[in-house]
Amino acid sequence: MNPNLPEKTRFLHRMAPTPLVEVRIDPSSPAIWCKLEFLNPSGSTKDRIARHILEKAWRRGDIGPGDTVVEASSGSTSIAFALACAQMGLEFIAFIPDAATSEREMIIRAYGGEVHRVGGGMSRVLQAAHDAAGEHGWFPGQQFSNPDNTEAHRIYTGPEILSQIPGGAVDAVISGVGTGGTLRGLHEAFSGAGCNVDAFAAIPRQGEMFGSNIECCSLKFSSDVPGVVEGISEIYRQWKTDAIIELEVSDDECLELTRKLWSMGFPVGPSSGLNLAASLQVAEKLGGEKAIVTVFPDRMERYFSHKVFAGINQPEEPGS
Ligand code: PMP
Repeated sequence: MNPNLPEKTRFLHRMAPTPLVEVRIDPSSPAIWCKLEFLNPSGSTKDRIARHILEKAWRRGDIGPGDTVVEASSGSTSIAFALACAQMGLEFIAFIPDAATSEREMIIRAYGGEVHRVGGGMSRVLQAAHDAAGEHGWFPGQQFSNPDNTEAHRIYTGPEILSQIPGGAVDAVISGVGTGGTLRGLHEAFSGAGCNVDAFAAIPRQGEMFGSNIECCSLKFSSDVPGVVEGISEIYRQWKTDAIIELEVSDDECLELTRKLWSMGFPVGPSSGLNLAASLQVAEKLGGEKAIVTVFPDRMERYFSHKVFAGINQPEEPGS
């Protein structure tokens, strides 16, 4: 047991609550309460799980100064672990899919992390990280099965939302599912606080024009997408009950809404467009008076090489 966290983590522990704002895409649209998780220090909601997983491991005595942490992730989680490890004086090794964009790798390296690329899909990446952790005695973050992932949202994100939303109650929560930690943790927080709340999993459906474009939301993804793959999350599998309603959104609509959010001044990635689109479906079902909550998980800058930026023209060189 080591109850004292390293001095450096104080920055992580001063992470401000992220704002909860009411978003209305046009005057006749219903309002959706959106949690601006892209404002966390590394630019995504995964800062919450990285901090919590490492803090609990540190307090248990599973990790200490100079130890090595390993995580398998297509991007956001590895970036969050890289930042948290840099602050806590830990080494970090990320296993990422071959297809992950180079800007993600560069961010992880900038925080001092090491990157191993693995071919053959997300389950191979997970296996490689698992094997390496076992062989070298490294600490595995294991976001897909670690209950501290869900707990981070249950004890931090959820109560924050309840303290921010007028009336202190939530009727519906919507999120795309990678690990399922966000949706499960928020649902547990809200129902634990006495809300009569429905959980909706937002699923990006492949459009005809695009391959699957929404990174990191696992269900029904084509195998060539750099992101997580259907059915690998223990957290979601163990929790999934008939009570969860799955909503499909075409990936064209996800990208369109993401660009709409940019035009409104929200610097978000494609899963925010997915979450908002599914939330609008929920508002239509439940009626506009209900308190409907979703998250904007990460920032736009991670997606310069993604299709969501297609059509955003490069400025012309002066004199050309
Ligand atoms: N959006 C983005 C950008 C993500 O990286 C992820 C998870 N990898 C999600 C949404 C889904 O969150 P969760 O893992 O909590 O289900």
